[in-house]
Amino acid sequence: MLPVPLRLVEHPLVHDALVTLRASDTHAEQFRQAARRISLLLVAEALHDLPTEPLKVHTPLYPPAADGRRVGTDVVVVPVLRAGLGMLDAVLELIPSARVGHIGLQRDEMTAVASQYYSKLPTRLDSSYVLMIDPMLATGGSAVAALDLLRSAGAKQVRLVCIVAAPEGVALVEQHHPDVLIYTPVVDKELNAHKYIVPGLGDFGDRLYGTV
Ligand code: URA
Repeated sequence: MLPVPLRLVEHPLVHDALVTLRASDTHAEQFRQAARRISLLLVAEALHDLPTEPLKVHTPLYPPAADGRRVGTDVVVVPVLRAGLGMLDAVLELIPSARVGHIGLQRDEMTAVASQYYSKLPTRLDSSYVLMIDPMLATGGSAVAALDLLRSAGAKQVRLVCIVAAPEGVALVEQHHPDVLIYTPVVDKELNAHKYIVPGLGDFGDRLYGTV
């Protein structure tokens, strides 16, 4: 059975973009485009229940006015550096008013343990809708460290959006932050000896920035 906080996103366009991201012959430019496409769709899904406020809007054919709804909540998006930056533009396109925090975590190549090297978060996180973006949920160590940081900064309502997850990562986040919903198109088979997701898509940051 799926863990409760997991939301598997099944949209066909999400899975189409995922194939492009996975393919080993996708070069950096195509990779960036596909990352943007999939992020738009995943984030739209993760924010499907964002609170809105009713209003009246005058169309060119006024009167009568049309009924509408505007997003009525402060949204904070937090990319986990550096790979999370590849998803940020998509979120800001959907919610131009979103405030942005940054968390920099570095993974030790040998131990895969995450350590923080940077953090800058907006104020009033307790009353904001916080979206953490980190494309690869592998061991879950970085995600849990970043979520711990958000929690100690006061964040209450947090969602995690990723592009590929591993069972180990999902389990660790669920264990430490059971109230955080995880939006992902897929949970892959396993981690390899270097803690990369298999089959995965390789190193997301390297493929995004052409540093392979
Ligand atoms: N980070 C990546 O970029 N890829 C993985 O497979 C795991 C962590």
